[in-house]
Amino acid sequence: MAEAEPLHILILGGTGEGAALAEALFARFGKRVRVTSALAGRTGSPAPLAGEVRIGGFGGAEGLADYLREQAVDLVIDATHPFAAQISRNARLGCEAAGVPRLILERPPWQPHPLDRWIEALDAADAARLVGMIGRRALLTIGQGDLAAFAGIGHVRFLVRLIRAPAEPLPLCHYEIVTGRGPFSLGAEHHLMARNAIDVLVCKASGGAATEAKLVAARELSLKVIMIRRPPPEPGETVRTVEAAVDWVEARRSAMIGKAE
Ligand code: NAP
Repeated sequence: MAEAEPLHILILGGTGEGAALAEALFARFGKRVRVTSALAGRTGSPAPLAGEVRIGGFGGAEGLADYLREQAVDLVIDATHPFAAQISRNARLGCEAAGVPRLILERPPWQPHPLDRWIEALDAADAARLVGMIGRRALLTIGQGDLAAFAGIGHVRFLVRLIRAPAEPLPLCHYEIVTGRGPFSLGAEHHLMARNAIDVLVCKASGGAATEAKLVAARELSLKVIMIRRPPPEPGETVRTVEAAVDWVEARRSAMIGKAE
């Protein structure tokens, strides 16, 4: 890369951190970077993003490696959700195959408060087993992908929160849907749980401020929380803040310019 050419950075996104990173890269580097954000295309109307946006899968790790070569991508930052394990694996394998440096921008996990009543579940199936033993009115905030694990539970009424109303009925015996996209306020979360007589919250250990209020509301209402633990992270260089990711780009950029001279 010569200094005059913009550095092409691919952000694997679909998260608030990915969006913030695209902004922050332009704020620091301006026209010296070209930023492409890749989204899976799960939500119909993604929020606006700085730079270019590419929607849809790449076709596995090989497809991603082809894309990186074809589009002359210089750096990849995996800013996907901690539960999006497949794309993170593909990112590792695809970057290795194409010889493109990769950074993981990991969202810090939530830390329990002494008054929290969290019960760790190994996965969605384990959470389904636990919720049947603990509650009668569950608030389910795990997205749509893993709901089938809760299909056989007949004695729990689920209040399912989704970003948008589903096209098909959900695979649950008794449920209602509430739609909404974070950030959620503590007052609204408290009200939602109290009004619906929720006695247990089921969520993923996603981390992040946008959806943390539900945990505080559950604590205030003394509710148990079934927390589905994260899948193991991919190995590789990892940072936990957008600023640190921008610093990594700066260091890589300087090294690449140095080599080209
Ligand atoms: P996943 O299971 O890890 O990935 C499944 C497939 O979807 C991947 O193999 C890839 O298809 C495609 N894909 C996923 N993320 C992509 C991206 N950012 N850009 C292009 N293609 C992508 O992913 P997931 O858990 O369904 O999550 C999908 C997206 O939603 C991610 O971007 C993630 O950051 C976001 N998200 C996920 C969650 C969650 O709880 N899982 C929550 C909030 C946001 P190909 O193999 O064809 O390339």
